[in-house]
Amino acid sequence: MPTETSPPAASDVITVRSPRDGSVLAEVAKTPVAEVAALAARAKEAQRAWAEATVAGRVLKLKSIRHRWAERGAEIAAVLMREGGKSEAEALTSEVLPSLNLFDYWCKAAPGFLAREKVALDPLNFPKKRGFVDYEPLGLIALVTPWNYPASIPLRALVPALLAGNALLWKPSEFSPLTSKLIHEIFAPDLPEGLLALVLGDGAQGAAVIDADIDGVSFTGSAATGRSIAKRTAERLLPVSLELGGKNAALVLDDADLDRASAGVVWGALANGGQNCAAVSRVFVQRAVAADFEKRVRARLAKVRTGPDAGEFFDVGPLISARQMERVAAQVDEATAAGTEAMAPGGRKGDAGQWYAPAAFKAPGEALAIVREETFGPAFTMTVVEDEAEAVRRANDSEYGLSASVWTRDLARGERVAKRLDVGTVTVNNTSFTPVITNAPWSGRRSSGHGTTNSHRALAEMVKPRFILLDWNKGSEFWWFPHDESLVTLARGLLRFLTAGLANKWAGLPAALKLLPARIKAISGPVE
Ligand code: NAD
Repeated sequence: MPTETSPPAASDVITVRSPRDGSVLAEVAKTPVAEVAALAARAKEAQRAWAEATVAGRVLKLKSIRHRWAERGAEIAAVLMREGGKSEAEALTSEVLPSLNLFDYWCKAAPGFLAREKVALDPLNFPKKRGFVDYEPLGLIALVTPWNYPASIPLRALVPALLAGNALLWKPSEFSPLTSKLIHEIFAPDLPEGLLALVLGDGAQGAAVIDADIDGVSFTGSAATGRSIAKRTAERLLPVSLELGGKNAALVLDDADLDRASAGVVWGALANGGQNCAAVSRVFVQRAVAADFEKRVRARLAKVRTGPDAGEFFDVGPLISARQMERVAAQVDEATAAGTEAMAPGGRKGDAGQWYAPAAFKAPGEALAIVREETFGPAFTMTVVEDEAEAVRRANDSEYGLSASVWTRDLARGERVAKRLDVGTVTVNNTSFTPVITNAPWSGRRSSGHGTTNSHRALAEMVKPRFILLDWNKGSEFWWFPHDESLVTLARGLLRFLTAGLANKWAGLPAALKLLPARIKAISGPVE
């Protein structure tokens, strides 16, 4: 930590700037990389007692944290707005409120998921045996998170991981240290000292957390960082969950409710400034309805409220950083330079902060970055397709496989198309919101990563199963030594019985019966 006599060097602090006007909001000290190992050791120490407490005891602690979350909800929203440039509507509906449901779900469901599980054992194959599974916490989980939903994304891992008895070494994004500090402040009073260790900083601190003595990784962020973490942990064979980027398609079919589809697509593409892994970024519309759909999309785009003068209530907020704005602008400029027709042209708004107007292109060239790469900004493309098959083929033509939406009045048709989309989530007549459904799995394919957020499947990645078998038998098992003629004859007879047709089933029986007494003698009784 910096002291009065030694002011922090520039590289030791994060300068937090307002995305709205660029003003400096705070300077936050980074956690020295050299301290990360000690934080990990302390968290591991704290985890031992935490893991020994009952699940019911841990639920009580998480309920108390939930209470504080509710009490300080307005404060959380305020910090999200200040630091992330979000609108109040965005902060409340996508972060503060869904997180209350998340606490409730896990506090209710976790005890059942973590309880001892009986394994049914067939008494003929496995006589006099009983088996069950206990779930133990992984230990210390490295949690590395992005800035776009800096409250709700970390909570999706923090809450189940803590309930399962884990400690966490949490490295939030360098673009959301104020939100992360507030979350830590809300959690810490109910947790053993050091159990949830906050590591503030950028990629250097992220790498240090991954290199620490951890037992698993939960990462949400870009595919590039996800790959580097996968490489870094490969030698240690650590379990790693990677929730990465998306290039999500919307398939507007010829029987869609075009009012709902256009509203959903425009919201899905531009919500949170398009800085959403589940943002709609490629729209494929069937020719029969393309003109009507486009008319509605244009009308809705014209109504989007954004920019530094938008006032208290706006739809599309500023981008998080200058770097992010350059990335979005580069894709938009490339599409424009290629002569792509724009339904909305994009472009910077105002001189301060990172306000960027929505961009929407028609019939883009397939090689353009705005079609191929994640944009993570308020921009999308629209392509007319002849039929369902072309829509599916184009939607699947992406290195990403996170989510997609299908718009049709025929739900059976929607389901049929959904099954052909190679992504982790498909919504029919809706889009981009399902990560707030805590009991549904959220997971990617291909460059969108692997592992699961939400649902019992997420919890399963935060525990280690231990199967325990109890056996009341005496003597030896049928299949133990000696591996003599009696065993092989019986096994051959059994194979024949299980696989041969009715007429030949019993052919091995005489030989097996003849050697059965020898087998029983061989495996029972004391050794001579
Ligand atoms: P990012 O990959 O740049 O950073 C994510 C986190 O990783 C940050 O905390 C960062 O400091 C840290 N980091 C950077 N380099 C690291 C390294 N070498 N080792 C360890 N940690 C390192 O991503 P971002 O810009 O913060 O977030 C945007 C990305 O996140 C987008 O690609 C988006 O699609 C993705 N995302 C995915 C989901 C999902 O659920 N699939 C949700 C939200 C965001």
